[in-house]
Amino acid sequence: MPDLIHNLDAVRQRIALAAHVAGRDPRSVELLAVSKTFPAEDVRVAHAAGQRAFGENYVQEALTKIEALADLRADLEWHFIGPLQSNKSKPVAENFDWVHSVDRLKIAERLSAQRPDNLLPLNVCVQVNASGEASKSGIEPGEALELARAVAALPRLRLRGLMSIPEPAGDIEAQRAPHRLLHALFEQLCTEGLALDTLSMGMSGDLEAAVIEGATLVRVGTAIFGARDYSN
Ligand SMILES: *Cc1c(COP(=O)(O)O)cnc(C)c1O
Repeated sequence: MPDLIHNLDAVRQRIALAAHVAGRDPRSVELLAVSKTFPAEDVRVAHAAGQRAFGENYVQEALTKIEALADLRADLEWHFIGPLQSNKSKPVAENFDWVHSVDRLKIAERLSAQRPDNLLPLNVCVQVNASGEASKSGIEPGEALELARAVAALPRLRLRGLMSIPEPAGDIEAQRAPHRLLHALFEQLCTEGLALDTLSMGMSGDLEAAVIEGATLVRVGTAIFGARDYSN
């Protein structure tokens, strides 16, 4: 899979260049490789090339993959980044290291209650709607502080930060606006006393904009694994 390895390297270089432009240390930006729809074998190849953190959106698909890669489990970090239904929270609480898509208290309470005692607390981000589109998932920015405080108080969760999936935008200035808004909200929550360290924003098409605006974690699928095929 020379493409995959080449792509991974190219994405690392994009992150490094954007960090350089922003005067940031490239090591302050973590790369989450979004492997949804791609086989376990691709994850294995990316891992062999030094990638540790992988993102998945679909519970059943992810569980199959995690099982197939059980031999690497201690050296992999699995992040759930998709919309999460209440009735699917248990396998997520039991099998993932992170959940980026917490957008309501009920789901956070379930994840906390279902997180096994023998595992470390589940790392979570609150998902915020940073581009003002009513149709998009994520809590409204004005409600984020209250939800974040409630999530931070749950015993088996560790609130790490904020996540957003802005509307796609063509030019970099338009891409930066929602990322800037999320960063400002992140700073506000920190000022309010929440100990956050993760700003999860930026994907294949806008990672430079996100890094310039302060992302600490970018979630990249297509630019690493190629175009997704949902036909089967
Ligand atoms: C699929 C997905 C990504 C990756 O998107 P690409 O454009 O393929 O890089 C990132 N974040 C979330 C939440 C996703 O669902």
